[in-house]
Amino acid sequence: MALVDAIHRFTFEELAIRGALVQLQGVLKQTSEHAQYPADVQSLLGQALCASALMSSTIKYDGSLTLQVQGQGALRLLLAQSTNQYGLRGMARFDDPLPADASFAQLTGQGRTLINIQANKQARPWQGVIDTNYPSVAAMIQAYFVQSEQLDTQLTLFANETACFGLLLQKLPDENSDDADGWDRLTQLAQTLTEDEALSLPAAEIINRLFHEETVRIYEPKPASFSCNNCGERVEAMLRQVDRAELDQLVADTGKVEVTCEFCAKTFSYDAVDLAKVCDPTTVSASSRVQ
Ligand SMILES: [Zn+2]
Repeated sequence: MALVDAIHRFTFEELAIRGALVQLQGVLKQTSEHAQYPADVQSLLGQALCASALMSSTIKYDGSLTLQVQGQGALRLLLAQSTNQYGLRGMARFDDPLPADASFAQLTGQGRTLINIQANKQARPWQGVIDTNYPSVAAMIQAYFVQSEQLDTQLTLFANETACFGLLLQKLPDENSDDADGWDRLTQLAQTLTEDEALSLPAAEIINRLFHEETVRIYEPKPASFSCNNCGERVEAMLRQVDRAELDQLVADTGKVEVTCEFCAKTFSYDAVDLAKVCDPTTVSASSRVQ
């Protein structure tokens, strides 16, 4: 059955615990269709996409959250980004084939993960860091919330080649609850979910099945979509970092510089005139004034 790409937020009102559930299918396909990742990389990418959307759902902001796993092992880079409107994109770099049956910690070596939150109106992003020495992406993000945010968190992630799922439960700091066992009960219930259920049942049915004895308030689901709309700007910013002589040589040899966006596979092509506009805009406007 086709899953709907969406985020479902909910709260347990008597318990000061919040939850969010994400299922992605079309977004995962669009994120990876040009890259042809092997199944295990595709699964990691799906988990990272779900994690970035769920983390984004826990903060009120206008901007984007990026989860960037910088590995020192066979998994070199795993990147997923979600805007606050759940516009998602992601990519991976890896040694093919990845070692079979390796844990996340083994795949990433002595790596680290950066969590970047870029608010649209702020120049500097907020950045958090955690090492990658965890058995899974979910365990790493869970530890991040506990260590950096002091928020008890349980994260469940499932992914296969065509679909991915995430469920986040988080205990809110303000605990006036008279049900001391509430957190233990909910996290145990969440652990009863199977991968098969998570990747096939509709979200509302999963929430009802798991928590039917609790008072759950479910908010209107928010659609998630694949989004790579500022890649032209990013490519140009990247070109400005490259040695200009190298770019000029490339134009001399081939007539153009071509850069393909790793997220959406769109190709941007620059000839000598385009390059001048991108790399030294002040010179161009000065010389056009002289003419
Ligand atoms: Zn792009």
